[in-house]
Amino acid sequence: MYPLLLVRYGELGLKGRNRRAFEDRLLANMRRAIREVPHGEIKRTFGRIYLETKGNWEELAAKLQRVFGIVSLSPVLRCRLDLEEIKEGARLVAQDTPGRTFKVETRRTHKQFPLNSPELSRTLGGYLLRSFPHLKVDVHSPDFTVHVEVRSEGAFIYSQVIPCLGGLPAGSSGKGLLLLSGGIDSPVAGFLSMKRGVDVEGVHFHSYPFTSQQSKEKVIQLARLLAPYNAGGRFRLWIAYFTEIQKALHKGSYPSLSVTLMRRFMLRIAERLARREGALALITGDSLGQVASQTMESIHTINAVTSMPIFRPLIGLDKQEIVELSVKIGTYETSILPYEDCCTVFVPKNPATRPTITQVERAEAELDVEGLIAEALAKTELLELGQDKML
Ligand code: ATP
Ligand code: MG
Repeated sequence: MYPLLLVRYGELGLKGRNRRAFEDRLLANMRRAIREVPHGEIKRTFGRIYLETKGNWEELAAKLQRVFGIVSLSPVLRCRLDLEEIKEGARLVAQDTPGRTFKVETRRTHKQFPLNSPELSRTLGGYLLRSFPHLKVDVHSPDFTVHVEVRSEGAFIYSQVIPCLGGLPAGSSGKGLLLLSGGIDSPVAGFLSMKRGVDVEGVHFHSYPFTSQQSKEKVIQLARLLAPYNAGGRFRLWIAYFTEIQKALHKGSYPSLSVTLMRRFMLRIAERLARREGALALITGDSLGQVASQTMESIHTINAVTSMPIFRPLIGLDKQEIVELSVKIGTYETSILPYEDCCTVFVPKNPATRPTITQVERAEAELDVEGLIAEALAKTELLELGQDKML
């Protein structure tokens, strides 16, 4: 019934060249998202995008709901500029929309049409009331609104508005490297960075055989789940070899500092990878105060090893809010699989909640920090996941 999907996008603040670049990238990302679903032309007019459907708007909408930059979608009926046709169109749209109260809202850019906007709204409202005895008009808070747009190329009628993700088009901000564990938080941190246009790559620190092959598979699966949201529909995942570092820390004489030291190693390795791959920021799933390694003192001491910006999109979220997001984006079920990541295997009984830089530097003086980093980097492998790659 709906030959068109109306695509609304946001970031009203964008002007001039930025806006053009935003739209071009959004269109490219949309094309990629729906390339396996039959569809017609995509047209850009007056700050909106229209996509011609092949009677399959639901299938197209499901794909587009994962495309950042789209604020909402509406399936739209199109008819000729003829009052009887418009009445019939409004009737079909109202019939297809649940609710008991409604109003009609008209926008007329084609001034040659004989009825003006209020007249057309009244005419259609009356017609709908006669057609559907169960409906009532409520102009203040109706259950649904029948929108009618009268333009030179025809009349466009719709009622449904499907909310989408908003944000900036994937890949419009630059590259960032996500420290991806197998937990609930870091995939959500990756998602929220993608939402603001970051092209996200991931690094996972793996400590085989202390952590299992399954824990690695779990992270790979999380990366696959994130890929459709990411730039290019793909996700590059580095698996960094962390075993020797874990062993060295385990042998060390500062058990309460081992998590802090481990995180400092993770950041150092991630920073080098990021610089090598052209990423401008690191991303973690830290949420303030959630565990010992995420107190302000811990974050301060861990952060001190790098001069790169670190994005922590979850810093102000409660666990419950993070869980809700992970359910929404589809990573939760995988994140709660039981396989341990390296942090749970080596967690000490009493991790320091206020580690200082002096303390950790003293502990690191006993270690061959550079040698351990070089070995971990040399044994790091790259997996490319997502569209066209190991789907
Ligand atoms: P998550 O649910 O993301 O694992 P968490 O609440 O378990 O988070 P921590 O285990 O303290 O918290 O980890 C904090 C952050 O450090 C993670 O969000 C992630 O960004 C990073 N991190 C932890 N372990 C790893 C790992 N094995 N590989 C890569 N990054 C990791
Ligand atoms: Mg974790």
